[in-house]
Amino acid sequence: MGAQGEAIRSVGFIGLGIMGHSMAGHLIDAGFDLHVYNRSRGKAEPLLARGAAWHESPADLARVCDAVITIVGYPVDVRQVYLGDAGLIANAREGTLLIDMTTSNPSLARLIAETAAARGVDTLDAPVSGGDVGAREGTLAIMAGGEEEAFARALPLFQAMGRVIRRLGPAGAGQHTKMVNQIVIAGTIMGVTEGMAYARRCGLDPEAVLAVIGTGAAAGSQLSKLGPRMAAEDFAPGFYIHHFIKDMGIALEEAAAMGLDLPALALSKSRYDELSGLGYGADGTQALLRLYEDDPGA
Ligand code: NAP
Repeated sequence: MGAQGEAIRSVGFIGLGIMGHSMAGHLIDAGFDLHVYNRSRGKAEPLLARGAAWHESPADLARVCDAVITIVGYPVDVRQVYLGDAGLIANAREGTLLIDMTTSNPSLARLIAETAAARGVDTLDAPVSGGDVGAREGTLAIMAGGEEEAFARALPLFQAMGRVIRRLGPAGAGQHTKMVNQIVIAGTIMGVTEGMAYARRCGLDPEAVLAVIGTGAAAGSQLSKLGPRMAAEDFAPGFYIHHFIKDMGIALEEAAAMGLDLPALALSKSRYDELSGLGYGADGTQALLRLYEDDPGA
C-alpha cells in the first residue's frame, strides 16, 4: 500500500501519447507495477505487452494504485480525468498521490489540489520540458507545485523519467514555471525559424550553418532540436502546434490577469494561429518555417 509515508509500488498512468508512452515505459524499467488507461486503447498495447495492466476507466485505475500520473492533452481533458463522480479524485483511496504532468492552467491545478485535499488525496502539478527526445531518454526537466511531503513521495517516480527535478512552490507553481518556459521558447522558436528561413533564402547549406552556429552564442535546445528538422523539412510532430497554441493562450491569459503585457508571446501565438488556420495544427512546432515559404498554404 502507498499511504502517506509509505513507498509507492503500484503506479497508474493516464495519457499514452508522444510523451506519456515513453515516460510510462521508464516506470516499468524502474520496477514499478504499472497500470494504464488511455482514451484510445491502441496506444497502450506496447506497454501491455511489457506487463502493464489495462483499466477501462480512470476510476477503475484509481482504486488500485498508490499513485497516478496523468499527461493528457488539454485542461478540459485534465478536468474530465480528475473531477466529477467518475474522476480520479472521487475514486482514489485516501493517501493516494495524483500527479498531473499535462501542461495545463495553474488555476485548475489549485482547484484539483483543494478538491483532492478535502478527500485526503494528495496532488502535485508537475509539467515537464524536454520534448519527445527528453521523454524517450528519461532526461526531462520536471517542475512541480504542491506540498513538500507529496513531492518527496513522488521523487522516485520523477527520477525514473527526468534529470532536473524541482519543487517550485505550492499547487500551481509547477504550471506557472512551465508557462515561463513556454514564454521563453515562443520567442526562441521564432528566432530559430527566421534564421533558418534566411539561411535557405540566401543559398547557404542549412546543416552547415547549424553545425557552426550551434556551438556559438546562438546555441540552445530549440536550435539543436528543431533546426535540423527544419533543414530536412521534417514537420512531423515532436511537439504539436495545437498544444503550443494552448500553452501560449494559457500564458497570455495568466499574464493579462496580472496586468502584464507580453508582445513577443502575442506575436508568436498569432503566427501559430495563422499556421493552424492553414490546416497545420497537427504538425510539429518547427513547421513555423512554412510561413516563410512563398505559398505556405500550398
Ligand atoms: P499526445 O500525443 O496528444 O498525447 C496525449 C494522450 O492523452 C493521447 O494518447 C490521448 O489519447 C490521451 N488523452 C487525452 N485526453 C484524454 C482523456 N480525457 N482520457 C484519457 N486519455 C486522454 O500529446 P503529447 O505530445 O504527449 O503531450 C501531452 C501533454 O504534454 C500536452 O499537454 C502537451 O502540451 C504537454 N507536453 C508535450 C511535449 C512534447 O514535446 N510533445 C513537451 C512537454 C509537454 P488518444 O490517444 O486517444 O488521443
